[in-house]
Amino acid sequence: MIPLAIPDISGNEGRYLQDCVTTGMVSSVGPFVTCLEKQIGKASGFLTDPQAHAVATSSGTTGLHVALVSVGVRQGDLVIAPSLTFIATANAIAHAGATPWLMDVDATTWTLDPHALVECLNLETDRDSMGVLRRRSCGRRVSGIMPVYTMGHPPDMAALVELAQDYGLPVIADCAAALGALINGAPIAGHGADLSVFSFNGNKTVTSGGGGGVVGSDATLIARLRHLTTTARVGAAYDHDAVGFNYRMTNIQAAVGCAQMERLEDFLAAKKRISAIYAAAFEDLSSTTPFPKASNVESAHWLAGLFLTDPKINPGYVRDALRQQGIDVRPFWKPVHLQLPYAEAPRGPLVVTETIWDRIMPLPCSTALTKEDQDFVINAVRGVLSSA
Ligand SMILES: *Cc1c(COP(=O)(O)O)cnc(C)c1O
Repeated sequence: MIPLAIPDISGNEGRYLQDCVTTGMVSSVGPFVTCLEKQIGKASGFLTDPQAHAVATSSGTTGLHVALVSVGVRQGDLVIAPSLTFIATANAIAHAGATPWLMDVDATTWTLDPHALVECLNLETDRDSMGVLRRRSCGRRVSGIMPVYTMGHPPDMAALVELAQDYGLPVIADCAAALGALINGAPIAGHGADLSVFSFNGNKTVTSGGGGGVVGSDATLIARLRHLTTTARVGAAYDHDAVGFNYRMTNIQAAVGCAQMERLEDFLAAKKRISAIYAAAFEDLSSTTPFPKASNVESAHWLAGLFLTDPKINPGYVRDALRQQGIDVRPFWKPVHLQLPYAEAPRGPLVVTETIWDRIMPLPCSTALTKEDQDFVINAVRGVLSSA
């Protein structure tokens, strides 16, 4: 099988891991954790004292969870999120005791649609006598907005943040696969989310085996979040001032992450190149379009592939035919509102989400994908589509 997206761990990973063993620094403090936090902060655009703006966590999901808790999301709340996302977005909201209020994505970027958001907020929420924003039909407090950088492509953060400010809601961006993404040439730090969360899971562009990172411009909020990830311990004795979490990244994970981050620019360039090659190779096929790319952004191009525009083409047929040729093609994220645990979650209209999700077809795009393998995939796709 030509895999969908596997890590390239051919840099300093082994050396840094050996260093963990040699020094005995394997656990949740250690120099690699500090190093990775600095690297995450810098890559997000926090150039002065980057570590004050970044916390490494045990996964993207735990990073999202603690981010929600640290901006005040609590039991019984609603948090607005797109239905088109990996289920971890919704799970983090549920772990915080809240419920996702699922909204549609924009047809041109596949990210949370500001128009859908303004409709729901304008028509379906009220302020109670205490000034708390509530969804009228159920009375639940609305306490945050969680846009998702779909496959590394930034949402319309300017519009979303303006709306969030109008309604006094914090923005926690799920940037899981978006390290390196730019809006108007600037990295994630400048786009107004209170907190932005990355994943370093094995299938992402940069991996630490498993892990995550949270960044934000408010150093006080970041310090609070760091405190919550480390059991909210105060001082050297067993004193804790809140219900904290054990969500810190270990030095072992960070050792891999640091070695990966040294090659971030190369990995991003490879992803971008692979994406451009697919786009050019399928340009003449009227039944497909490439993945979206807004003009003012640089996507992190986590996944590359094609979108099946022709409703007569059965995506399941295409996937099966490609898998038979040894190409790892799988269905893309099944939207959250179609998942059993979220069957009752409130939702707005989801017309775009329902139309597109099953027609999104990521193709093999590991950073180390060879020219030969990509050509093989391209020819196979063209063959299958001509007979589909
Ligand atoms: C990968 C991913 C996550 C989860 O990250 P983990 O590190 O696997 O917990 C969350 N949201 C999105 C959009 C993702 O792609």
